[in-house]
Amino acid sequence: MAHLRFQALQEVLRRQPAEVKYPSTKISDYFGINVFDKQIMQKYLSMEAYRSVQKSIEKGTRIDRKMADEVAAGMKAWATERGATHYTHWFHPLTDATAEKHDAFIELSDSGTVIENFSGSRLVQQEPDASSFPSGGIRNTFEARGYTAWDPSSPAFIVDNTLSIPTIFVSYTGEALDHKTPLLKSMAAIDKAATEVCLYFDRSVTRVSPTLGAEQEYFLIDDALFHARPDLVLTDRTLMGHASAKDQQLEDHYFSSIPERVSAFMKDYEIEAYKLGIPVKTRHNEVAPNQFECAPIFEEANLAADHNLLLMDLMNRVAKRHNFRVLFHEKPFAVVNGSGKHCNWSLVTNNGINLLAPGKTPRTNLLFLTFLVNTIKAVHEYADLLRATIASAGNAHRLGGNEAPPAIMSVFLGAKVSEMLDLIEQNVTDRKMTPDEKSELKLNIGKIPRILLDNTDRNRTSPFAFTGNRFEYRAVGASSNIAAPITALNTAVADQLVKFNGEVKALMRKKVKKDEAIFQVLRKYIIESKPIRFEGNNYGEEWLKEASRRKLSNILDIPESMDAYLSEKTIGLFDRQGVLDKRELEGRNEVRLEIYTKKIQIEARVLGDLAINHILPTAIKYQSDLVENVRGLKDVFDEAEFREIASARLDRIREISGHISAIKAKVREMVEERKKANRVENIRERAGLYSRQVYPYLELIRDHIDHLELIVDNETWPLPKYRELLFVR
Ligand code: ADP
Ligand code: MG
Repeated sequence: MAHLRFQALQEVLRRQPAEVKYPSTKISDYFGINVFDKQIMQKYLSMEAYRSVQKSIEKGTRIDRKMADEVAAGMKAWATERGATHYTHWFHPLTDATAEKHDAFIELSDSGTVIENFSGSRLVQQEPDASSFPSGGIRNTFEARGYTAWDPSSPAFIVDNTLSIPTIFVSYTGEALDHKTPLLKSMAAIDKAATEVCLYFDRSVTRVSPTLGAEQEYFLIDDALFHARPDLVLTDRTLMGHASAKDQQLEDHYFSSIPERVSAFMKDYEIEAYKLGIPVKTRHNEVAPNQFECAPIFEEANLAADHNLLLMDLMNRVAKRHNFRVLFHEKPFAVVNGSGKHCNWSLVTNNGINLLAPGKTPRTNLLFLTFLVNTIKAVHEYADLLRATIASAGNAHRLGGNEAPPAIMSVFLGAKVSEMLDLIEQNVTDRKMTPDEKSELKLNIGKIPRILLDNTDRNRTSPFAFTGNRFEYRAVGASSNIAAPITALNTAVADQLVKFNGEVKALMRKKVKKDEAIFQVLRKYIIESKPIRFEGNNYGEEWLKEASRRKLSNILDIPESMDAYLSEKTIGLFDRQGVLDKRELEGRNEVRLEIYTKKIQIEARVLGDLAINHILPTAIKYQSDLVENVRGLKDVFDEAEFREIASARLDRIREISGHISAIKAKVREMVEERKKANRVENIRERAGLYSRQVYPYLELIRDHIDHLELIVDNETWPLPKYRELLFVR
């Protein structure tokens, strides 16, 4: 039988782009048709029920039983008209995935007949059998009771005949077991803190929400090739593979034309996304071959996080129709770029003011400056926490690697904004500003938008970059649930704004005028947070040295970087802001360490298996062929000639032997290290052993295999090579 590798290649060459039909040329004709949104609600609910849902969305008030019954009935009527037969509470457990359990809309009546029903109580709350979701020891399995509760701020939607109701997931004792609960709490915290600060400038502000636009990067691999790579199937990444002679050096993939099959896939999932009300807008090729990006228009953070998860799910499903696999892993291929999920983040008021957009008048400039500087200060203060929330086995390959934001947190502002902050700083240290200078400075600030709109000031190496009217948190991994990093960011900024408010009030009590007080506090923050600001190349050697001079942390070890999640400082922060308590943080960290450990464990097993059962037999076979060949040469040539001819071949045989022995030995050692680590009870210690003692073997073993790949007969190599995975389509 020919290798799966060659069968797969033949299959790929026969592929044709699928035909995709648009439901209509106008997206607005079908945008959101599968969503129980405001307009549909108005049609299916009484005015009273509609208002109670809206009030709950805006003010976080509870919806009473009677209203819930009505909403449930309306939802069911709409959903069944659209062909839904089942419903599910859709939630985000602590794995980076979504969970759902489908129930039919039926109940037994007293007389034993089946009736269609969906009551308010089933809409509002459910008890999934959730014992096998990770909780980090918060629930023991025997009291594995957790419940899901309706989140009215994210509208219900229909996928595949199932009405999906976004919910939070909490334990019976009230601890959050999901990503959504703390995100919603962090949004409440920042709403409260930011609204109070806004009142210095604008009395009409009653609400502030974080906005979020997540640019999703991903790789596409043909289904047949994917299945011929057991490492991709089981670990989402290639554990071996020599670099292709050509990969991204020519930079010819970025923004170039999209291949037909890929573009059919994109159109197809975009149509599905629009039906679900996900405003996807931008699609393009990314830097690496077969790497792409999809960016939606930003939305309020909770909705954006839900939509990102839904989008990933959708892409996975639609890809199958096009014989593709989507790889969301942060680093599916060595050497070429990895994938991130750039989180564009800002704050918007109820009257539509983007608090990170530089305004035109002195007043709005000071408002802008206030939110800009407080965000920088928060990132400086909680850099380690922000780093901890994006740490994962997959993202480890990006953070600190040479082509992605490094593990050192820093903020890029661009020349103009930097200059402005420097000016304010100098004026403090050198002399006091005159009132004229101050208003001039404020006016100067007003000139920024025009300059920034040129968009020339981009720094693609910064983990946290100001991009003119928002921050772009670039270090977030492509596969992760963005709720966790955004929760940390919201909470840190909320806490910072509370501090700011307190300091301004204290000065005002000392009779310092309001604007002057704000200025003074901001100046102080600009100076204090200066070490986090960096405008240069984050990938360069110099930055490593400079960052260490500035005492910024650069933790490369993943379990160690996660420790910041449980520091006194973090516990205090989340506690003060009412987002997560100590027990919840401990539970979460345990889950994260557990997932990290298991991922490395699986990778180690898969690599061991492939090395022993796929690679070694292939290498040994080729080696025997060479040995056979040398024997033949010996028969044909006389001694002197044979020596000359065979010497290169003998070297090859030795080289192959060397790799074979090394692979055998290292796989054995790796298994031993795994056994040692597995005997360690404490999860933090175990994770540390996996990271320090097991993980390095993955690289060592791979190195030998990749060398063999270059030597061994191409005809017999069992796994699709990088040049095939990345270029054959
Ligand atoms: P680039 O790749 O150049 O960074 P994209 O156009 O791919 O830019 O993505 C920019 C993202 O930033 C989009 O999702 C966009 O909606 C989002 N964005 C724009 N303004 C804001 C804002 N005020 N708050 C949050 N996200 C925003
Ligand atoms: Mg982009």
